[in-house]
Amino acid sequence: MSSSGVTSRSFGLHRASAAKMPGRDAVRVKGWWLAHRFLVLRRLAQLSIFALFLLGPLAGVWVVKGNLSSSVTLGALPLTDPFVLAQTLATRHWPEATALTGAAIVIAFYAFVGGRVFCSWVCPVNVVTDTASWLRRRLRITSGRAPRGGLRYWLLGAVLVASAIAGQAVWESVNPVSITQRALIFGGTLAWGAVAAVFLFDLLVAPRGWCGHLCPVGAAYALIGSKSLLRVSAAHSSRCNDCADCYAVCPEPQVIVLPLKCKDGAGPVITDRECSNCGRCIDVCAPDVFRFTPRFDPRRD
Ligand code: SF4
Ligand code: SF4
Repeated sequence: MSSSGVTSRSFGLHRASAAKMPGRDAVRVKGWWLAHRFLVLRRLAQLSIFALFLLGPLAGVWVVKGNLSSSVTLGALPLTDPFVLAQTLATRHWPEATALTGAAIVIAFYAFVGGRVFCSWVCPVNVVTDTASWLRRRLRITSGRAPRGGLRYWLLGAVLVASAIAGQAVWESVNPVSITQRALIFGGTLAWGAVAAVFLFDLLVAPRGWCGHLCPVGAAYALIGSKSLLRVSAAHSSRCNDCADCYAVCPEPQVIVLPLKCKDGAGPVITDRECSNCGRCIDVCAPDVFRFTPRFDPRRD
């Protein structure tokens, strides 16, 4: 559930359908690069991280060993997905010290820069669901309905309870994040089948359904980064011309409305934990309403 109480089912996706080709005005006014810079930078970040994981299996150059659930970089830097750690703890198994250190590093990083930065700048599933969303707009598919916003938090809790009962980290056998990474690196019909299932789910069944409403990994990162320093601000909201392009491209459009429209005394900063700091709203806005800013920046012109 959005902390604003405005859900994508009731508002954002309806508004989003109004903008069929979001970003077209931005390209005309600001030029191609400024209308795509954060999208390009995100894809470069996702590709670079993926390439680092690929170097070992394909070229024998082991800069990073492991996967997005648990890895060691240059033999010295452990990184552990906090949700994997939580599942392990739920099974009452005490993890190795490196796993605890790895989770502490990841939590500290995302708590500072924004929890769901993982979703938009690192996770490979984001490319799949963004593509499904883009195709929905291009094909003008309006069918389907997103599940309720808070469902992923219930799923997160259910996974922890199931892990405690089963005595193993149950999500890890079905986690699309690691399955997508496996599919991209090693291939395999089953892995690609899981990726296709997420794509078709978002395309035909539930708009922005997976990342926006179901994935418990995204839920865990949203909780970790709920007070993060780096945020997006609708600092120049007076310039807004109501084109609705930002709502159309935002994976969580419900987070924009209060800061942009100054409703309920809201400040300009998008503090909703579901915002993934993807920066796409900054890209596609022709009058440049949005910008990245520290969380405590109250400026609005
Ligand atoms: S919600 Fe889940 S699958 Fe989607 S980008 Fe975030 S971690 Fe990846
Ligand atoms: S508000 Fe902007 S930065 Fe946040 S998720 Fe939506 S498009 Fe991305």
